[in-house]
Amino acid sequence: MQSFSYYSPTRVVFGKETETQVGSLVKELGGSRVLVLYGGGSAVKSGLIGRVTGSLAAAGLAHEALGGVKPNPRLAFAREALERARAFGADFVLAAGGGSVIDTAKAVALGLGNPGVDIWKFWTREAVPVGCAPVGVVLTISAAGSETSSSSVLTDEETGEKRGLGSDLVRPRFAVMNPELTFTLPVYQVACGVVDIMMHTLDRYFCPILGNELTDQIAESVLRVAIEKGRAAVRDPHDYDAMSELMWAGSLSHNDLTGLGGVKDFAPHQLGHELSAMFDVAHGASLSTVWGSWADYCWETNPARFARYAKNVWGIENADGRAAARAGIDATVDYFRSLGMPTCFGELGIGTQPDEVLHRLAVNCMYGGTRKVGTFRVLDAPDAYEIYRRANH
Ligand code: NAP
Ligand code: FE
Repeated sequence: MQSFSYYSPTRVVFGKETETQVGSLVKELGGSRVLVLYGGGSAVKSGLIGRVTGSLAAAGLAHEALGGVKPNPRLAFAREALERARAFGADFVLAAGGGSVIDTAKAVALGLGNPGVDIWKFWTREAVPVGCAPVGVVLTISAAGSETSSSSVLTDEETGEKRGLGSDLVRPRFAVMNPELTFTLPVYQVACGVVDIMMHTLDRYFCPILGNELTDQIAESVLRVAIEKGRAAVRDPHDYDAMSELMWAGSLSHNDLTGLGGVKDFAPHQLGHELSAMFDVAHGASLSTVWGSWADYCWETNPARFARYAKNVWGIENADGRAAARAGIDATVDYFRSLGMPTCFGELGIGTQPDEVLHRLAVNCMYGGTRKVGTFRVLDAPDAYEIYRRANH
């Protein structure tokens, strides 16, 4: 068994009407002035923001609500929100929404915890954060797993860079998860979420250091449940059972439990981020667009691993390991398509791209050639170009 360090400090409060507990949860953690962040309006329309601010008021906590976070959240908005938080004297940041809202809340909290440092420097690795205001979450979409993760993804719209930050400091102190809050999601967003949940596990499962059997079997279970419940959720987003299982799978898939002892790959995520940065497409859709091409390009690095995935996740029995590996990739791509998710540029709605764009995507993915991505197979810009090329139809 490979050694590992596991740290997942987020308190999870799961079930119906749990959002009414946010006031007491913040109070227990010592918060007194709360900045409540939300997105483009779904949380207001559903009445969630009213219930959350009501709970804060009932607990005697000062609060200010700020909406306007967009999907693929922008650095400029995070900076504005930080100014609002400072002006208000916030000592707690509460995100009511999905990955975009939560990641913005983490950015604001880092800003509060590191006065005098431009927050983007934490994303460019020019500075290392030393503190962070506490973050709480009321989750409205099962997808990013940011409610228990150590990461935050922001886009600098001026340069077109979409970057991720990883720090245990930003792990939320609590995550309130009421699956009923996801009932108002459009089916497309439900499907995007299912892909992202799967991908957080797959981007850990396909890695070069293997050997933790329990970790592998947890990962395979999360994948099987996400696949089965994902089908049901897309059929009926009011299916409480399906939406509950997805919500919990979303957190487990990204709190590191599914990758203990391994070395994360995350190349498909990096490839997808460049598509979102350039074309502003939904995160989950960017991932389903590139995964099949990534797998097609990389599976021969370890066919036995892909064969195990095919057998344990998709039930594909084939004595010929190479054929099994291929069948597992096909099953995954077919599944994405069955959810209505894109599996190539045409299906993503961006159309076939000229060669020059593929090269730009590939170079951007390597931060202009200053890094390589992935661990299962380490990719450079020519490799990324080839993967984009295979998806370019
Ligand atoms: P999201 O971008 O937060 O939200 C997507 C859309 O869903 C928004 O238009 C939002 O509308 C809508 N929505 C959310 N909840 C809803 C509800 N209950 N009813 C109706 N509409 C609802 O989605 P996400 O997939 O959770 O987050 C994606 C972002 O997270 C990407 O930037 C991705 O790169 C990042 N990400 C972060 C991590 C991490 O660990 N930090 C991991 C993976 C991905 P409103 O704006 O109106 O609410
Ligand atoms: Fe993701």
